[in-house]
Amino acid sequence: MLSTGNRTLLKVLFISTPVGPIGSGLGGGVELTLRNIAQAMQQRGHQVSVLAPASSVLEGIEVISVSGVPQPTAQTQERQSPISFPGNSVLANLWDYARQIQHRYDLLLNFAYDWLPFYLTPFFERPIAHLVSMGSLTDAMDQMIAQTVERFPGTIGVHSRAQAATFSFEERCRCLSNGLDLSLYQFKAEAENCLGWVGRIAPEKGIEDAILAAQQAGVGLKIWGAMPDQRYWQTVCQRYPEANFSYEGFCPTEQLQAGLGRCRALLMTPKWVEAFGNVAIEALACGVPVIAYRRGGPAEIVEHGKTGWLIEPDCIAELVEAIAQLDQIDRHTCRQQAEARFSMQAMGDRVEAWLAQILRMSSE
Ligand code: UDP
Repeated sequence: MLSTGNRTLLKVLFISTPVGPIGSGLGGGVELTLRNIAQAMQQRGHQVSVLAPASSVLEGIEVISVSGVPQPTAQTQERQSPISFPGNSVLANLWDYARQIQHRYDLLLNFAYDWLPFYLTPFFERPIAHLVSMGSLTDAMDQMIAQTVERFPGTIGVHSRAQAATFSFEERCRCLSNGLDLSLYQFKAEAENCLGWVGRIAPEKGIEDAILAAQQAGVGLKIWGAMPDQRYWQTVCQRYPEANFSYEGFCPTEQLQAGLGRCRALLMTPKWVEAFGNVAIEALACGVPVIAYRRGGPAEIVEHGKTGWLIEPDCIAELVEAIAQLDQIDRHTCRQQAEARFSMQAMGDRVEAWLAQILRMSSE
């Protein structure tokens, strides 16, 4: 730790998700969140290293690669599922290495939605902050996070109040929202006649509803996102042979924002309580209104009638109605809201204050 004037500069070790390398898209929004927080911290003079699965790509930030077999995603587990690890688990390898190098850092920041890092927290000598990226999914995880917050108050960060509300320890979560490097997202005043959908192509993301709504509204739908399960996508394609949609691939931010910016709106139709929804703030940053189910994070991001429309969950008719009313939303207001509420600066302030408090509490 280094003090300059009234600021304390930290050395922080980020530990990434074990579900895939950074840059693969398999980690969902966690990948972008990790990149943005790392950049925000570095810009403030803190030193950041990232421990991540081999083949991770993260420009301008020191990455320490760890090999091993990826962890199955928590979204694919049943509520009562026991905790399990593959042989040569990259999760176990990441945390074994973190234990060995912990003394080079003031604090560790965990991005994995996995049982092991919470379980290991009392065995580490350095404090660990946990940024929880999803709502409640399994009993075993809920219980382990609850145990951690009991023993280490203040160390559990979340992205939205709705996400926190899925846990019994809701009141003890620190809500950090999220933020973007807005300079990477170009405002587009004019749209083409198409809608957008962005995210991991997985059942909890509810892509079928967006396809149906776009079809009924008579507008084409462009889809961007990682495809963890090809069979699921094939089933979707077979179910709607008549619908007008195209898969645009999984693109780096530069390309994604260029395509997304041309859309009249982003549709968000999640079937789960979306913890935040990075794609909502990415759309707003491009000036693109968001039409989202009132379910989880997007309901805290979108201002109904101002930056998009919030819809009764699972109601296709309301989605279609909202698409018809898109000309009531001003694209400049969308960009302004992204700047006012979801800048990297604002996100950096929140994370910096959170980590400083954890360090203070750990030394008391
Ligand atoms: N994404 C991307 N390229 C694409 C499609 C998506 O980089 O072509 C990223 C997007 O920027 C976002 C993430 O995928 O950060 C999806 O995250 P979100 O928070 O919306 O949902 P999650 O997958 O975490 O549930």
